[in-house]
Amino acid sequence: MTLDHARPIIVWFRRELRLADHAALRAAAESGAPVLPLYVHDDETPNAWRSGGASRWWLHESLTALDASLDERGGKLVVRRGRTRDVLSALLEETNAGAVHATRSYEPFGTGGERDAAALCEDHGAAFRLHPGRVLFEPEDIVTKDGRPYRVFTPFWKACLKSDAPPAPKPVPHVKSFAKADSVPVGALGLLPSKPDWAGGLRETWRPGETAAQAALTAFIDDRMSAYADRRDDLFGATTSRLSPHLHFGEIGPAQVWHAMSHAVEASKGQARRSAETFLKELGWREFSYHLLHSFPGLPDTPLRPAFAQFPWRGDAAALSAWQRGQTGYPVVDAAMRQLWATGWMPNRARMIVASFLVKHLLLPWQEGEAWFWDTLVDADLANNAASWQWVAGCGADAAPYFRIFNPILQGRKFDPEGTYVRNWVPELAGLPAGGIHAPWEFSQSTLASAGIELGQTYPEPIVDHAAARARALRALEEIK
Ligand code: FAD
Repeated sequence: MTLDHARPIIVWFRRELRLADHAALRAAAESGAPVLPLYVHDDETPNAWRSGGASRWWLHESLTALDASLDERGGKLVVRRGRTRDVLSALLEETNAGAVHATRSYEPFGTGGERDAAALCEDHGAAFRLHPGRVLFEPEDIVTKDGRPYRVFTPFWKACLKSDAPPAPKPVPHVKSFAKADSVPVGALGLLPSKPDWAGGLRETWRPGETAAQAALTAFIDDRMSAYADRRDDLFGATTSRLSPHLHFGEIGPAQVWHAMSHAVEASKGQARRSAETFLKELGWREFSYHLLHSFPGLPDTPLRPAFAQFPWRGDAAALSAWQRGQTGYPVVDAAMRQLWATGWMPNRARMIVASFLVKHLLLPWQEGEAWFWDTLVDADLANNAASWQWVAGCGADAAPYFRIFNPILQGRKFDPEGTYVRNWVPELAGLPAGGIHAPWEFSQSTLASAGIELGQTYPEPIVDHAAARARALRALEEIK
């Protein structure tokens, strides 16, 4: 195709909210045509997984940061709201754009949007180009010998490591000129909470945007990476990268993280090298989730193991609410759920503990937990969230077996041995000594009283007995065997 340089190129920013290593932006910039950066806020096209509250807060900040970066370069993010199809069609008409470039999505609603966009472009005599960027390897390239998607992580990751490494990341491209079009302010999208303003903890904890994402990666590599393999399961303290929301919104691409980490592997030895390798493998779990979602678009709703469709889940609104509010009477579960509510995030170990508690101790459907995470996590990610919930519930690909039931008391003692995590998030238990803080009911009345605690009043009694809940969960599993 020959490009008509007078016709602008629309770069449709979807969830790759960055300028560096952005293949769609680079291709548009290299064409020499005026570039029109676009973000479409589509609350109209049917989509069962519209962003939750915490994600919307992040999105507002991230779009604001992207607009500022474009502004520094003489551009402007054109923000429009409405059905993606209508917005693209109107903009193609208004600007006579010669092409639309975008990053490929692997989510069911995203791929539908791509088909629509491609058809529209054809109607308008414009080209439509999809670029890689959200994953390290294309799902079509990582398949078993008989051409099927992998369902087990280890061979999947081996196949990834054997194939060509993702291309080295590229810097922000030079854009010769930007095209302009009418835009609504980011603030007009209504992404921020109105009343009550519950986002104070998010503002205190996070700094969204590409610059902050790069800073987070550098800080992790310089300060914490070498201890990652040994400390990543600690519940308290910043031991992991906290890159997940930045990765979700594409403020940093997985290939940028991959290459930074691969350099770290080459440059280090011993424990630091092991840590960098462990980290790469975690990035591999993200990759695995994306490939699974691409191959099994029903992943967010439907158990991958069909037997689990018959699982005798309970309905119990009071128990669900106690879990959501961090009032289960199990300190480690409550600490994690309150951290989630306050900051929009919790460590992976905490996610495993609370998810296991919901589906095994409370016998509530994993989809309930998935939905709550979807609304409250700043990194809520369709692929990672769905695959991880299925993994914990025992119904996913390569899942933890359902009969392996975490003991929340032992998990607390192991991963929060000093009780610091619990004291921080469940301050009403702060007066208890480390030794027993994960099972307050084991203390005598007088010890509890001297710590200012009255179980059932200042802090709940456990909503289920661990041993009884475990037995009930195993009986439920027998029913679907
Ligand atoms: P790090 O340990 O620093 O890891 C680096 C990156 O690797 C992460 O940012 C993430 O992109 C990826 N990663 C790490 N662990 C996993 C994992 N187990 N599965 C998939 N990718 C991983 N992650 C999300 O990004 N969004 C979600 O909605 C989400 N929901 C989850 C729900 C449950 C029930 C569980 C058990 C896990 C979930 N995870 C989710 C995975 C994981 O907990 C988070 O990615 C991780 O805690 C983010 O913190 P970090 O960036 O400091 O991770």
